[in-house]
This record gives sequence, C-alpha cells and structure tokens, in this order.
Amino acid sequence: MRTFAVVNCSELVTLAGPARPRVHREMRELSVIHDGALIVRDGVITHVGPRRELQLPPEIVDAGNKVVMPGFVDAHTHPVFAGNRADEFEQRAGGATYREISAAGGGIRSTVRKTRAASEDELFAATSRYTQWFLRGGTTTIEAKSGYGLTLDDELKLLRVIARIGPIRAIPTFLGAHEIPDEYRDRREDYINLVIREMLPAARKLAEYCDIFCEPHVFPVDDARRILRAAKEYGFKLRMHVDQLQNSGGAELAAELGAVTADHLEHTGTSGIEAMRNAGVQPVLLPGSVYALGSKRYPDARAMIEAGLAVVLATDFNPGSSPTPSMPMILSLASTQMKMTPAESITAATFNAAYSLQRGSEIGSLEPGKRADFVIHDCTDHRELAYFFGVPSAATVYIGGSRVA
Ligand SMILES: [Zn+2]
Repeated sequence: MRTFAVVNCSELVTLAGPARPRVHREMRELSVIHDGALIVRDGVITHVGPRRELQLPPEIVDAGNKVVMPGFVDAHTHPVFAGNRADEFEQRAGGATYREISAAGGGIRSTVRKTRAASEDELFAATSRYTQWFLRGGTTTIEAKSGYGLTLDDELKLLRVIARIGPIRAIPTFLGAHEIPDEYRDRREDYINLVIREMLPAARKLAEYCDIFCEPHVFPVDDARRILRAAKEYGFKLRMHVDQLQNSGGAELAAELGAVTADHLEHTGTSGIEAMRNAGVQPVLLPGSVYALGSKRYPDARAMIEAGLAVVLATDFNPGSSPTPSMPMILSLASTQMKMTPAESITAATFNAAYSLQRGSEIGSLEPGKRADFVIHDCTDHRELAYFFGVPSAATVYIGGSRVA
C-alpha cells in the first residue's frame, strides 16, 4: 500500500478525454494542466488536477518543473534477436541496397541464423539491454514480435523471451511469417503449411497477436490471407506489415480481414486509406525505418489524419531497417518528415497506440483508474520532445507506480 503525489509539473500532459481512439483535431487536444498534480495509490492513478484543488498525501515526488506525461506505448517492435547488422549498415552507406544485401543472404536471414544459434538466456540478456534503452526514452509498454526463429522451436524460444521481459510491459505477437527461411527457399508451400498447422496452434499459448510481412516477394496477398485466416480461427488478433516497399493491396487486405492494425503503409493510396477507415483499422506509421533505409518515402500521415484514421506512431525497433528504440526520435521524424504536429505525434505515441493494443482502458493517458505509467521528461514544454533531436531524453520513468528508470 503506497500513496504518493507528483507535483511541480511544468505541464501535466494528461490526454484525458473520450475513451476511444482520437481522430481529426482531437489528436491535437492533449488536456494539459499547468501546475498540475497526480495522485497514485497502489500503482493506480486516483486523482488528476490543478495542485491547489487536490488534497495531497504526505509522500511527494517533485517533478522539478518538468513535463509529466504518460509513458510512450511503442506498438511495433522486434526486440528479440542475436547479434546486429552494423556490417550491412556500412555496406548500405557504401551504396548497396537492402534488396541486394538480402539477395546475398543478408538481411532478416542473417539475423535468423544468429538467433537460432543463441540460447534463450543469451537472447534474454540481449533483449534486456534493449529494454533499458526503451525505458530511457520514456517508453513504458512495447508490443514485441517474434520472427527471427522461423522454426517451431525457435519461434517458441523467442516468445518465451518476450514473456520474461520486464519491468517494461510487453505485449507478445507471433511473426512466424516474417520471411521464408533458407531451408524452405525451394518449397515455400511447405513453410506456409508449417506455420499454419504447427506454429500457430503452439504459439497461441504465448502470443496475443499474429503478424505477417505482406510483400509480393515475401508473403504476397494470397498467402497472407490464407495464413491470417487460419490465425483468426486459432483466436489470434491481427497486425500486419503492409505496403512498405510497394502498394500490393495490403491495406485493403487488413480491412478485409478485420486486422487491428496495418503497419508501415509507405505506399498505401486513397483506396487503402478508405478501406482502413471503413473497417476501423488503425494505421501504425514507422518513420524510423524510412529514415534508416534512406528510402525517403514516408507514409502519408496527413491524408490518414484527414480521412479520420486514429494514427499510431512506433519505432519498428529491429536490427536491420530501424535500429532505434527512441520514441522522441520518432516524434521528431513525424513532425519534420510527415508534418504531424507535436501534439498529434504525442497522441499517436501514447493514447492511440494504447488503443491499437486494446489496452485503451488501462494505459495511454493519465486519468483516474488507469495504471500509473508516467514519465518525467527533461523539458518544460511538451513540444521540446520533438524539437530537440538526438538528445538522450534521460527520462524518469514510473511503471505501475514504481520508479524503474
Ligand atoms: Zn516491423
């Protein structure tokens, strides 16, 4: 039993408001309280308001005249892998393309080889290092995908690592259909059958969502439909990588299947946006991967916001295309490259992200009844989070009312 109040917040960014994903101009309403206070009891927020209106308990946390806001909810990450791809990063800097590297056995497949060779404990140690990075950037919840095992046993190994992640909250997603592994190159149909018949039923005990890399040269729309229909029958909810490298109708497929999210969307056009709106699919935009690949084609965030989609921003943290766990960096890219306002970006990275993980009633805003997952950022104005970039945020982080960073 512990009760405390957080006071001396230059801005208490609550995001209080309607209990549903925010769209259109609502994304700019952060419900900021100046000189606000937050009261927490047993890990749950009990009161939020102007300090002078609240009766404060004896234990006080002084925010030092800084911004206090909900922890970031990073709704798309690949945090479990062995090794890294700094060598390929150097090759790309020298002019090689991602596809050339992949065709030469690099890319996802090289990470798969190293990840298969690593033990569960070795993977957990690597992942724990990365989760510390997430915390330092002010992230308190991540969605975490498997996908670098690509055998039944290795995919389950990755999901068991995800189950051990803490104190950051991690929500598990099975991504066995991330790539066709080397040993199935000449018999892709057999790999799809393995995913459907053996991996999906076994992964169901450890994962909430099923994801797929839907691209014509990996899992084209027809394969994706077959795998994801099977996943739904096993009780998975769906998230999908779509339209990253070209528009192949992935957003429309996400709408057809009733996916919770469609992610990437760099090449999605008007009909895909319309399909997502009609089906209530939330777009998860990943500008870090566009930046790191140097492809310069950012998703059309403004068109999606204007169409009334409840946009989400995430890092896509992974060893190849987006090696950043930093949500402040993503906010910077959203404002400079996709013309999202700082307020829209914060909504997309907290409140809307929580709804995209079906945790909207628990996290994503600072309101009575929600978990006390909040962050004290080293700034006095929330706009500084996107404005200063490349600065370690050095956040003070609370999860469930306990200080974790
Ligand atoms: Zn991804």
